[in-house]
Amino acid sequence: MPANAAPIVANPEKSVPAIKIKKNALLSALEGAKNMHPDEFIALFRGNEQSDTSGKTKKGGIDISQKKDGKPDLLLTELIIPPFATGDEDSSSYSPYFIPANSSEKASFHSHPDPDTAYPSDEDLYYMARSGGVHFIACWPFRMQDVACFDAAGKPQPFAIV
Ligand SMILES: [Zn+2]
Repeated sequence: MPANAAPIVANPEKSVPAIKIKKNALLSALEGAKNMHPDEFIALFRGNEQSDTSGKTKKGGIDISQKKDGKPDLLLTELIIPPFATGDEDSSSYSPYFIPANSSEKASFHSHPDPDTAYPSDEDLYYMARSGGVHFIACWPFRMQDVACFDAAGKPQPFAIV
């Protein structure tokens, strides 16, 4: 073990992995949101967890393998639009937050039609708490800066566009 192996944990309270998302995946989601406006657009992101088992210290000095919560990075790579996600006004029976266990679908995405609403509604919080995982919400006009990411408790999470 290297002498400098002591983990640097920027935020000990952190309960979700470091979140990274491919720019194209996020742009696809924002495009979908624009196309569906003023209806909600709902989708999922496919991704994978990046465990660093090599013991090397990662960029930024955070050794992922030794983070307090032991969770690997999450890299979201691709937008998935569920075929049953119609987005019409009666579609509330479909929850975009249901992320099946052991699938490659790691995060949800949905849009809010009004500006400055990139945060979970009460209903969103209810479903997010039930599903766990990571949830993106974008609001009109669906620019990069109109996107926010939350954990299952509705707490904002930083994410990196890669
Ligand atoms: Zn919502």
